[in-house]
Amino acid sequence: MKIYPCQCGNTLHFENSSCVVCHREVGWCPVCEGIRSLDAVDAYTYSCNHCQSQLTKCLNYRDYQVCNRLVEVKTTWHEANAYCKCCNLNRIVPDMTVPGNREKWYNLEAAKRRLIYTLDLLNLPYGSIYDRFPLPLTFDFKGNVVQITQAGTDAIIAEKVFTGHADGTITINIEEADPIEREKLRVDFGEARRTLIGHFHHEIGHYYWQLLVRNTCEEECKAVFGDHTTFNYSYAMNQYYQYGPKLDWPLNYISAYASMHPWEDFAETFRAYLEMITILDTAESVHLLLEAEDAVDFEGAPFENMLLKYEELGIKLNEMNRTLGLLDMVPEVFTPAVILKMKFIHKLVKQGRLLKNNLQKQVVFA
Ligand SMILES: [Zn+2]
Ligand SMILES: [Zn+2]
Ligand SMILES: [Zn+2]
Ligand SMILES: [Zn+2]
Repeated sequence: MKIYPCQCGNTLHFENSSCVVCHREVGWCPVCEGIRSLDAVDAYTYSCNHCQSQLTKCLNYRDYQVCNRLVEVKTTWHEANAYCKCCNLNRIVPDMTVPGNREKWYNLEAAKRRLIYTLDLLNLPYGSIYDRFPLPLTFDFKGNVVQITQAGTDAIIAEKVFTGHADGTITINIEEADPIEREKLRVDFGEARRTLIGHFHHEIGHYYWQLLVRNTCEEECKAVFGDHTTFNYSYAMNQYYQYGPKLDWPLNYISAYASMHPWEDFAETFRAYLEMITILDTAESVHLLLEAEDAVDFEGAPFENMLLKYEELGIKLNEMNRTLGLLDMVPEVFTPAVILKMKFIHKLVKQGRLLKNNLQKQVVFA
């Protein structure tokens, strides 16, 4: 993640919607791709101070302040009902009549925008139902129990919400956006860390398994992560929660949870890969990678170089956190078995880029 300069000289961060020094409104310009200060043209239109594009606020920025992205105004009249490309992926959002839900929704959107930034950095394909993308990516942010009124009756059906992925839809239980609830779960499950962005990084792994592995390179994937068809998923889940992780997990898996089932192993490894990318990107932009040749070219970099830099950086970042008694930032240990799995993900990301190119060509020539 990068940091951006305000026109007053102050530093702007990815989540900012105003500058704390000059109090100008700021937001993400989709044209020059950065957090920029905005000059108001009229009640709904702004000019990007960097590229002078005419912009309007995403509806979730304008109406709920849970987003800080803008949308380009391409016509002379306002596209008054425009969502940014991140909010366009939402299907269900938290009930705003429930106290505390706006804060949770804000945290969820902030984490989702970071995820989208990293997918764009890697040039990975994704799209919404409006883009007619082959596997539309959709987000459902649901409360712990959603009450659905049955059509035509007063009956209320309660539904327990589990964080997970199914056919392109990522569901997040919004209690995960409550830091107290999340920490309780982290301690209960004995996890090294549990973050909101971590959930997005994990669930998008399941999404890319379906988009890039299923019916494409399933055999190669089985050879690395194990045969998902021979392990019944519900049985594996029950075993995991009853008896705990496999005893050999520190040697062969990126996390304890990864040892539950080959699909979870894949998603956990995908999460760790995205974390490596996003930490290296931030380190580079704030000059934590000290030598010029440390610059990371995410599209062409050999995997071994990236991992070496990440491991060196991880030791330092963990030591910094331990100084104040915080959890390790990079708790993973990259054993030979784990490196093999990470390499598979690295290769798959390259295949993802090819798919994106092909899809773009199809749109152009359609
Ligand atoms: Zn400023
Ligand atoms: Zn701009
Ligand atoms: Zn938005
Ligand atoms: Zn999972």
